Parts: sequence; structure tokens; C-alpha cells
Amino acid sequence: ITVSDLVDESYKRIAAVDGKVKAFLTLDEENARAKAKELDAKAGGNDPRGLLFGLPIGIKDNMVTEGVTTTCASQFLRNYNPIYDGTAVRKIKEADAVSIGKLNMDEFAMGGSNENSSFHPTHNPWNLEYVPGGSSGGSAAAVAAGEVYFSLGSDTGGSIRQPAAYCGIVGLKPTYGLVSRFGLVAFASSLDQIGPLTKNVEDSAYLLQAIAGHDPLDSTSLNTEIPDYVSALTGDVQGLRIAVPKEYLGEGIDPKVKDAVLTALKVLEGQGAIVEEVSLPHTEYAVATYYLLASSEASSNLARFDGVRYGVRADNPKNLLDMYVQSRSQGFGDEVKRRIMLGTYALSSGYYDAYYLKAQKVRTLIKRDFEQVFEKYDVVIGPTAPTPAFKIGAQSDDPLTMYLNDILTIPVSLAGIPAINVPCGFADGLPIGLQIIGKALDESTILRVAHAYE
Ligand code: GLN
Repeated sequence: ITVSDLVDESYKRIAAVDGKVKAFLTLDEENARAKAKELDAKAGGNDPRGLLFGLPIGIKDNMVTEGVTTTCASQFLRNYNPIYDGTAVRKIKEADAVSIGKLNMDEFAMGGSNENSSFHPTHNPWNLEYVPGGSSGGSAAAVAAGEVYFSLGSDTGGSIRQPAAYCGIVGLKPTYGLVSRFGLVAFASSLDQIGPLTKNVEDSAYLLQAIAGHDPLDSTSLNTEIPDYVSALTGDVQGLRIAVPKEYLGEGIDPKVKDAVLTALKVLEGQGAIVEEVSLPHTEYAVATYYLLASSEASSNLARFDGVRYGVRADNPKNLLDMYVQSRSQGFGDEVKRRIMLGTYALSSGYYDAYYLKAQKVRTLIKRDFEQVFEKYDVVIGPTAPTPAFKIGAQSDDPLTMYLNDILTIPVSLAGIPAINVPCGFADGLPIGLQIIGKALDESTILRVAHAYE
């Protein structure tokens, strides 16, 4: 089989199913086919092959791609054509993967259902009436529907893990700082991380291997030795100490999700792991803390969209201020505006101590909860989301209910630690996801446990 064949299969599958799934915003077919020919020529020669040689990949549309429209699913950027590749994109290209196109998402990664895309919602491939999750919903749906081999997503408060759970695939949020954010359009800079969405754990290890590593272009990038993630997949969990937080299986968790997680824990116990209940007492404050901090950072990050530097400018403004106001009023959708207003309020003078500073302190307490548990345990396990996917439209006019869906993914984001979603069953034909959480920079262990379980 040639790379051209693989790429051809990918576009055929997209032609067959994407009219229904709607995972893609932009296809990059001409470049992909040219790259495939180049790789086929290389395959005949003696040059070494990259780690991801010839594999069709999809990219969430908040990662800048040279010469390929990058919209963040926002009307504001509908015509934005970057002049460079972000670091993670450059790395997958250097590893010889073939970029097939750009994937749908909630606008500026704000949301958990893909309904906040300003273009169209993406549909869950398991049942088209249901959401695929978000914000990396396009990235998850494209993999689940077999349109690409794997994809890149980004996770600020759950946006890789939750759509992976809803779509029945593997999604990994790395330790904050492991993967460069250079060229990732910023939502909340202290939380954003790029990571892999794949069909299985081995692929996740390969894709992480390709994108992890220090980058001088990202000031928060960690300068640390990158282990061999693939060789960590030994299948051995004998003696592994698993902590199960009681807050993760309590109130608000769908009983079918709870059952599936308890069954998964039994499987790991059967393989020799030791399972014990623990408490992460500050869990109940995580959602409020996150929405305050993430919105504050977003209000600052999104100030750059002013109608001058990027994207669309409003027609016929009366003066400069009116040009800013009109461009932002027309360019941003409702959820983005809601967060900018919330964040601006929280950061305004006189309120900083009461809200932002307080939230930073609670963030530290949440981080300490995990640190204490990790003194005695190797991993923390619970569900990824309280319920399986919900119907399109079911929660779209209720932002607070939507925010509460993130209760199990947000603590990990605030603590900056890694976590992986691995499928652990179904309820009424929709996938359920198991979340395996690790110590900072211990991706090898969560990959090993996920691999032993799957
Ligand atoms: N659902 C969360 C939010 O709306 C998480 C989003 C994300 O991780 N990008 O902010």
C-alpha cells in the first residue's frame, strides 16, 4: 500500500460520511496529495522514514497552518490565512504524517459540545442526533468515523478527553508545558495543551512522542528529557496503586457511567492492581475556579482580535473605536462574548482580589489535593464525564448545565497534570470513557495503564 492510497482512502471516506458527521471545516487535498507523492518517492529511496510515515492526520482549527485557513470556528477568522505552522503541526509534518484538513470545534475552544462552532455543529458518529463533545469535537468525530487515522486536539478544561469519551476513542491531555503552544491560538494560556486523539493507546504514544519536547518559542515549554512512550506499554500493572476519588463517583454521575467505571476497575484489579478510595476535597470548587480563571485569561488573549491585525473588519465604521466595536460585535459568537465580559469584570480594578486572586489560591489547593494522593498512589482513576453524550440542542441554551459537564476534567487541567481517556463501555449505544490521571510528566504510566486495560 502506498501513501497516496492511504490519503485517497481518507478523502473517499470523508466524501462518503462527512456530509453527515461534519467534522471538517477545511480540506487540504492538493497539498496532501502532493505530500503523499513525495513520501512515496522517499519510500523507494534510502532516507529514513519519519515516526508517523504516511499516516493521514486531522488538525483542530485552532492550530495555525501555513497557507491553510485557520478559523478557530469563528466568523472573526473566517478568512485568516497564517504564514507559518505552529510547532506541533511542524513536528507532525517532520514526522512524515500527512495533514488532511482542519477540524471543527467550539468557537475559540469555548464549549463542550461543538454547538458553539459559528459554522455548523459536528455530529457524533455513533448517533448523529447526539453531540460529539467539545471543544475538540471535530477531532474526535473524524477519528471515530474513520476519516483520518488520528488527529490533534487541544484541551483547556477537558476538550480532548471529553470528546474522546463521547466518541469512544483515546484522547490524551499531556502535562502542561510538555507540548509547545506556539501556534496554538490562545484561549487560557495557563491551561491550554495540545494532545493526541487516536483509535488506540499505542497510536497515542506514537503521536505524543512526535509532538512532545522543548520549544524556545513557547516560554512555558518544559525543558525535560522525553522518554520512550511506546516502550512503556508493557501490559504490566501488577502492584500498581490506583486511587479512586469518592467525589468522582458521587452525586450527578449517571449510574451507567458509574457501573462501567467500577467494572473497569475490577478488570485492572484482576490484572494485579490495588484499588483504594481517596478524597480530593476541593473538587467541588473546581468548576467555579476554572470558569473564572479561563474567562479572565480569555478576555486578555482575545483582545488582539480588533479588526486590525487578524481576520475580518466590519464595513463602514464611523471611527476607530466604532471599528473595534463593530468588528468584535459581529465577529464573536455569544459564548465568546459571555466569557470576555465575565473575564473583564473579574479582572477589573477593585474586583481582582475578590475573584481572580481568590481563584488562583483555590487552584493551588486543588493541585495540592492531587499531590497528596500521589504521595501514595501511582494513578487516579474515575469517569471522564458524568454522562455519555447528550442530544444536539438539549443543553445549548443553558450555559451553567453545560459548564457542570466539565467537573471531572477541570481539576486535572487546573493542576497541570496529564490524563488519558480510554473507552470503557456503552450506555444506550453511546460510548463511556474512563479517565486515568497521572503525576506531572508521568505520561508513561497513564499510557501503560490505559494500554493494559483497553
Ligand atoms: N468545556 C470547557 C470550556 O468550555 C473546556 C474547553 C476546553 O478545554 N477548550 O471551557
